[in-house]
Amino acid sequence: MTQKIYPCTLCGSYDIEPIDSQIRNVTDNLHKMYRCNSCDTHFLYPQFAEEQLEAYYDGQFREEVHTSKYYDEATLTKVYDRFYPEAQQRVARVEAEIKPSDEILEIGCSVGYFLNAVSNKVKNVFGTEWDNRALSYIDDVLQNSKIKTAHNPQDFEQGFDKIFMFHVLEHIANPVEFLIKLKPLLKDNGCIYIEVPNVDDIMVKTFNNSAFKDFYYKKAHLFNFNEKGLSYVFEKSGYHYQIEFIQRYDISNHFYWLANQKPGGKGAYTHLLSSSLNEEYIQCLKTAKQTDTLFARLTL
Ligand SMILES: [Zn+2]
Repeated sequence: MTQKIYPCTLCGSYDIEPIDSQIRNVTDNLHKMYRCNSCDTHFLYPQFAEEQLEAYYDGQFREEVHTSKYYDEATLTKVYDRFYPEAQQRVARVEAEIKPSDEILEIGCSVGYFLNAVSNKVKNVFGTEWDNRALSYIDDVLQNSKIKTAHNPQDFEQGFDKIFMFHVLEHIANPVEFLIKLKPLLKDNGCIYIEVPNVDDIMVKTFNNSAFKDFYYKKAHLFNFNEKGLSYVFEKSGYHYQIEFIQRYDISNHFYWLANQKPGGKGAYTHLLSSSLNEEYIQCLKTAKQTDTLFARLTL
């Protein structure tokens, strides 16, 4: 059933419909997820105000994503260690494109796993984050002289050769305006790399697994894009772009969800499902554009 209540918060279309899934960490009846039939984006309505979000990311967000003990150093180190291998994969994905003379910015750098992983390949690394304790962790624990941190990209008062945003754009209330404001910070021939979840994920779109969907939609994800929605954002903000389909989770994780209705199945069935089968499966997801993740390169 199509409801015409208010417009899509991304493209303004009134052709929207509610999604009958829970949103993680939302207990009120006010906030709901909707699907826009025009730009394909699944969006949270109503949105939280920017000031609320800045305070949220400096406190409750990490506790919701991780644990209430997140803020002791040992736990921050666990977060760092957990995400560092993926940070290395992210460096490998762009290694051929980065230069030793590059000055790199990561927006939303968390505890600095990507900054640290990329730092020995480039001249300087800059990271922004609204979570003050994550910034303190970078400055006090990592102590990498190439890394500089701040709250917002404009705070550094300089330009960058490459700007990275991993799972950040879906948190931003006005992604078009945000990307337009980044243009003055991008040096000539610079590139912005953006990784976001793909809402055409086979677990959501085809398997339509309700336990997975209740886990998938999050309070902090104001938008859940597919290729079409992301293209809309890049075109409106006036960039040239390419979108690549990448897969973070393996076939075991998907089988585990379908069998047990819960996360944690990465690698669970590798004794049954060979690595070549996994590669073939991921190739099928790429062909169908139903991987769990989108990776985009933006240039002026
Ligand atoms: Zn829309």
